[in-house]
Amino acid sequence: MSLTQAAKAEAHRLGFQLVGVTTPDPPPHVPEFENWLRDGCHGEMSYLGTERSRQRRADPRQILPECGSILILGVRHPAPEAAQPVKETDLSGRVAAYAWGNDYHDVLPQRLQDLVSFIENHVGHPVANRWYTDTGPILERDLAQRAGLGWIGKNTCLIHPRLGSYFLLAEILLGIELEADAPFVSDHCGTCRRCLEACPTGCILENRTLDANRCISYLTIELKGAIPVELRSKVGEWVFGCDICQQVCPWNQRFATAAGDQAFSPRPGLPHPELLQEIALSPQAFNRKFKGSPLKRSKRRGYLRNVAVTLGNIGESSVVPALVEALADDPEPMVRGHAAWALGKIGGEAAWRGLRASIQREKDPDVLGEIRDALAHIDGASNTGD
Ligand code: SF4
Repeated sequence: MSLTQAAKAEAHRLGFQLVGVTTPDPPPHVPEFENWLRDGCHGEMSYLGTERSRQRRADPRQILPECGSILILGVRHPAPEAAQPVKETDLSGRVAAYAWGNDYHDVLPQRLQDLVSFIENHVGHPVANRWYTDTGPILERDLAQRAGLGWIGKNTCLIHPRLGSYFLLAEILLGIELEADAPFVSDHCGTCRRCLEACPTGCILENRTLDANRCISYLTIELKGAIPVELRSKVGEWVFGCDICQQVCPWNQRFATAAGDQAFSPRPGLPHPELLQEIALSPQAFNRKFKGSPLKRSKRRGYLRNVAVTLGNIGESSVVPALVEALADDPEPMVRGHAAWALGKIGGEAAWRGLRASIQREKDPDVLGEIRDALAHIDGASNTGD
């Protein structure tokens, strides 16, 4: 068995269903990436646009000068369809399927290190290496396509022709040459436009990129400040991430399996967190609950911001007391501000009274602005008989 074959077999044994090898040559879509940055489609993710990061994405040898090959790996997470159906009476949100279990940043490094050790044992000497699991400046989908693992679909995801797109990707740059796979050259999206049509915010662009500024995944995870008012209703019930453009993809409907790698099986309370519990999470309870989970990335203030928006979108008057409490007591202005928005959206006498009461004691100018807007929205709605 050649080194390449042995390394691939070991990667499969370690739980990677996708394994491919490519060269360290510049990825083919660097110009598109540069245009995407120029157009500001990366939102507030400024780390993507730094000079150093751009140089490294454009040339993997800037990361590891002695790089001779790159192993591209993918591990399957559960499909969103694996979620238990929620009862109609439940007030629950939705979490993207990749985030139901343990954080891949914690799970995958050990496997990547084990794979490097296996290769070093096989060749009998240390091998220069650098690995990433969504942690470094590398155009991983582009390299995955060149490693023969699938094509980049209209929804911007890497789609494998027999396994779909529910994968977490990782890569190892190696200071030795492995045998490169043939690139995946065909495009199997054809005339299908389901992802473009299903995206609630219309953020998927025709050139197989997306405007992150409007993507629910970005808005609920990466965006640190307030969610733009005009997009809040479109966030729907998503409290962390969004799976819609992958769920509607025929390649996932055909090939995705419910179960993924065990490490990513749902934790208690996921994939449908109980919103009335979540809106009341103290900082300590949030840290306890989401230790080792991807959800900690949004931090408590981002997560409860999303929960407040979702409660507003569900629009049930029974959640008004919980939102009034958050507006009165939450230590984070951003959570109070989004609770105010949600109350304005739900409307009614109790929401109006909660907002009026809070205006007396609120000191934060942004929250006061949200409260005034929410009151105006309720007043406007009652004047028009809405
Ligand atoms: Fe649109 Fe959701 Fe896909 Fe983002 S993740 S592109 S919001 S469907």
